[in-house]
Amino acid sequence: MNLQYVTLLISVLVVGILFFMKTKKISLGVRVFTAMFFGVSVGALLKSNALIIEPVGTIYVNLIKMLVIPLVMSSLISSITTLDNTSKLKSISLKSIGFLITTTVLATAIGLLVGKVMDLGSGIEFVKDAAFKAKEIPKFSAVLIDMIPANPINDMANAKMIPVIIFSMFIAVAINVEGSKKPEKVKPVKDLISSFSKIMFTLTRTIIELTPYGVYGLMVPVAAKYGVTSLLPLAKFIIAMYLSCLIHIALVHGSLIAVIAKVNPIKFFKKISEALIIAFTTRSSYGTLPITIRVLTENVKISDRIASFTASLGASIGMNGGGGVYPTLVAIFVARIFNIELTLTHYVLLFVTAAISSIGIAGVPGAATISATVVLSSLGLPVEGLAMILGIDVVVDMIRTMTNVTGAAVASILVASTENELDVDGFNDKNNTKKQELHAA
Ligand code: ASP
Repeated sequence: MNLQYVTLLISVLVVGILFFMKTKKISLGVRVFTAMFFGVSVGALLKSNALIIEPVGTIYVNLIKMLVIPLVMSSLISSITTLDNTSKLKSISLKSIGFLITTTVLATAIGLLVGKVMDLGSGIEFVKDAAFKAKEIPKFSAVLIDMIPANPINDMANAKMIPVIIFSMFIAVAINVEGSKKPEKVKPVKDLISSFSKIMFTLTRTIIELTPYGVYGLMVPVAAKYGVTSLLPLAKFIIAMYLSCLIHIALVHGSLIAVIAKVNPIKFFKKISEALIIAFTTRSSYGTLPITIRVLTENVKISDRIASFTASLGASIGMNGGGGVYPTLVAIFVARIFNIELTLTHYVLLFVTAAISSIGIAGVPGAATISATVVLSSLGLPVEGLAMILGIDVVVDMIRTMTNVTGAAVASILVASTENELDVDGFNDKNNTKKQELHAA
């Protein structure tokens, strides 16, 4: 029997099992993990025959990407128009950027430590890849200019988060200014946007229900294309990446949550786990955004305003994995294979360029190769060294994206708690407990 038919048959069975689990009210998290397990097994067993399933993952990613712009814009505008002072907006913006960049700098430090301790790149010979073409490094001034909206429709179509956020803020502030003089003039627009934003949240919830099937469709091709043998030669790099990211999440994110937001970090990670799995499998923080915003508002209980603002900004600024850990490990790896001794100047430059180049990375698969190129060339290291690790980028991008999304979610809770926009009782499920007690009585 044709193995592609076998794949299809098994996949129908998997979909049936996942659907049955849903009817038995098994949590979404468990269903998604089950889907991951099936996806990896089917991909690893049936190899290229399993690729017939790939469109399922692509369709799922398209559906969640479809939500991003309308959801972010409507929830940003409608939540900022409920603000009565603009100084609050300023403080939210500054804190968001501050937390996003600071955590990226700390991620660089963790990457440096792990990379050095593991002596990354040792014992590896440089093999030139003739087909490798280094990415063009964008000029910093061009990156800055690109952040300012010129044609908002074009920015929306090209998924440029920062100009879209700035445009939404301008509209919201203009509604506030006009509304303070003639409230009746802006009321129809405010009501329309607020109602539209609720509709977008409902649509997001509906599409999230498809996650287990989407994750299955995303994991099958990854497991089919990357066997153990293709990963083995660079296993040390992959391990260093996963280790650094997990240490960063556990130590840096965990302690910031405990100390600043004063809530239990483990509970926090559990509450955002759905977004983390989706980030891991889709490799796009931009695509994960609707889910990130939803878990932050509905599970973590931070305000719509901060969730939509800080998390969206975090899908493009200060990516902890792609802007901090990854370029650092690449720099250590490349320096080692070319026998270049890194000096104090290199290290200082590493921190500065990692922080700067983490501004404006697109939250799409593989985007961090640009920040790595920027870091390598500003440190004077041979950019062609990067070619050696591009073959395993998908596997590395998975943990990178998960770390980026965790960083954005952590920045959101930190801003929310310092702005009094975190419902701590709600976070600790105290309201629910109270409701249940009342119900029982
Ligand atoms: N794929 C990452 C993201 O979407 C960017 C990167 O690290 O390459 O966040």
